[in-house]
Amino acid sequence: MIIEPRMRGFICLTAHPDGCAQNVKNQIKYVTSKGKIEGAKRVLVIGASTGFGLASRITSAFACDAATIGVFFEKPPAEGKTATPGWYNSAAFEKDATAAGLYAKSINGDAFSSEIKEQTIELIKKDLEQVDLVIYSLASPVRMHPATGILHRSVLKPIGQTFSNKTVDFHTGNVSQVSIEPANQDDIDNTVVVMGGEDWSMWINAMKEAGVLADGFQTLAYSYIGPEVTEAVYRKGTIGRAKDHLEATAFQITDMLADVNGKAYVSVNKALVTQASSAIPVIPLYISLLYKIMKASGIHEGCIEQMQRLYQERLYNPSGIALDDKGRIRIDDWEMREDVQNQVAALWKIATTENLGEIGDLAGYKQDFLNLFGFGFEGVDYKADANEMTLIPSI
Ligand code: NAD
Repeated sequence: MIIEPRMRGFICLTAHPDGCAQNVKNQIKYVTSKGKIEGAKRVLVIGASTGFGLASRITSAFACDAATIGVFFEKPPAEGKTATPGWYNSAAFEKDATAAGLYAKSINGDAFSSEIKEQTIELIKKDLEQVDLVIYSLASPVRMHPATGILHRSVLKPIGQTFSNKTVDFHTGNVSQVSIEPANQDDIDNTVVVMGGEDWSMWINAMKEAGVLADGFQTLAYSYIGPEVTEAVYRKGTIGRAKDHLEATAFQITDMLADVNGKAYVSVNKALVTQASSAIPVIPLYISLLYKIMKASGIHEGCIEQMQRLYQERLYNPSGIALDDKGRIRIDDWEMREDVQNQVAALWKIATTENLGEIGDLAGYKQDFLNLFGFGFEGVDYKADANEMTLIPSI
């Protein structure tokens, strides 16, 4: 079928299999151009189909020659109805990895459930015996708790007082004022249950019990800090509480891993256009200003550049892993540079619907958003018939 983008708010209802395949190929090409990295050879990526998780899987495979298992929650295609982009990304990744002689298998289902954990552990036992690295890169608005059966919903709200600031509708470029009412205690608790560290800890615990963690095992989850303008709704809001919990969980997991000489880390990554970040108020305006400044300074990175640098210069740096005063890996260092932040803060004050096209990189934002769904790639014939029924070989 001929597949075109159909936008609805923060999502696009369609995805293009060939465009998603091109996206994966471009990321593989980038990683390959940077050379090999001496790293883990057996890797599990939880949240492996889009954003930072996909880029981590590609870096593990194509820079470290790792066998990878990817877990994600994507919608498969039906006749005349496209799959979600993570499905097509994973189909393309598996094909490219297998063609390069690398083991790659995937599991599609709810990572928060005990069933998917068990299924993953069984696959590891059968095919890889153990894993050396687990990347935990889930971003989800809901979590069904496996012990209670309660469905928890995360919210993106400030804590304590109403937050008012500028935001942009990135489809129209309309800059407006947004006001978000403060969260109540239930909102905070639910967001911590969904996006905090409990599920990460449950994964590692289940894997440890099953004996599938190799000696010297490492695990990594992703966090975000960001600037003052987004602080009330991000780092000091409900999602920030969940990230505080995630970061604290790393230390508990490290304690749990003592007998396999293992370690858990949180890496603070850069703000990027992904399906998760597009849904957060205020962040798209910040990202469009940030992109403009970082591109002008020659320090802009996408998910793949971030993950390649994370592996090469942090995780597998022969001189050791540099950590901040809170024990976190920082790969948001270029975003948080004082000169970058000062320039963004100055632009923030003057940003309007009329000038955003010029002072911000709204075009870059839109392009990245289209790319998430496999649209807008050079080398893809969007007028040609595409096979919406593209399948993931191992599923
Ligand atoms: P994303 O939306 O691109 O990816 C989320 C992944 O989680 C997908 O693979 C999806 O299939 C999977 N997933 C969601 N719910 C699932 C479930 N129930 N079971 C199995 N898989 C499920 O998100 P992203 O932006 O790459 O975020 C990944 C992590 O990075 C998050 O912790 C996020 O907070 C963090 N982070 C994001 C940014 C940013 O700007 N995007 C910056 C710093 C840190």
